[in-house]
Amino acid sequence: MKKLVVGNWKMHGSRAFNAELINGLKAADLGATAPRASVAVCPPFVYLGEVAAALQGSGIAVGSQDVSVQAQGAYTGEVAGPMLSDLGVKYAIVGHSERRSYHTESDQLVADKAKAALAHGLTPIVCVGETLAEREADQTEAVVARQLQAVIDTLGGDLSRIVVAYEPVWAIGTGKTASPEQAQAVHAFLRARLTAASASAASVPLLYGGSVKPDNAAQLFAQPDIDGGLIGGAALKAADFAAIARAA
Ligand code: PEP
Repeated sequence: MKKLVVGNWKMHGSRAFNAELINGLKAADLGATAPRASVAVCPPFVYLGEVAAALQGSGIAVGSQDVSVQAQGAYTGEVAGPMLSDLGVKYAIVGHSERRSYHTESDQLVADKAKAALAHGLTPIVCVGETLAEREADQTEAVVARQLQAVIDTLGGDLSRIVVAYEPVWAIGTGKTASPEQAQAVHAFLRARLTAASASAASVPLLYGGSVKPDNAAQLFAQPDIDGGLIGGAALKAADFAAIARAA
């Protein structure tokens, strides 16, 4: 399967910072990885249009970090799928652990956001993952199965156009990476759940996220069920993100 490497800029950046980062990414010629890996970046909403315009022709796609379940209306502060498609946005991250925990997003809300993204031509990148306490209580599979099941139930048979990102919460921004074996085990579990749910899900890309860096990316991406990465901190440095994309 072709790899996919997505940078999540989170709430970082400014017009000047973004311009420099984009120049660095363009200079790294990530479009050249195209036969083996697709690459995308997810800046904050306010910069999406500008970043999409700046990346035109570079081969790097643009994604959002969230999407509303509503298509339009009186929902102050929300950003709707049609607005994102209108800007040329390709992906929408849904259910990032920071949104699940700081904005109390439920499994069902995340699933509804995935459905809204699909309805408006966006590819949802559905994040799942357990906390450290859950891993230590041997609950990893139960937690990711529950998070994924809400999406499977909500989308019904239509699983062919989603991306799933396994992001153990204890590995996000902490410098602690799941070992390639730990990540592969959860990815194989997710793959089995997806294919059991729908034949259309056999080719769903499964990304790993959690302190992916240039020095651990190749080993992670070499695992049979790891189809790429969702990159946080390292996506803010052009050289690091380019090295990770090349590792794919
Ligand atoms: C993320 O937040 O999606 C992430 C994986 O962050 P980091 O790479 O910084 O751990």
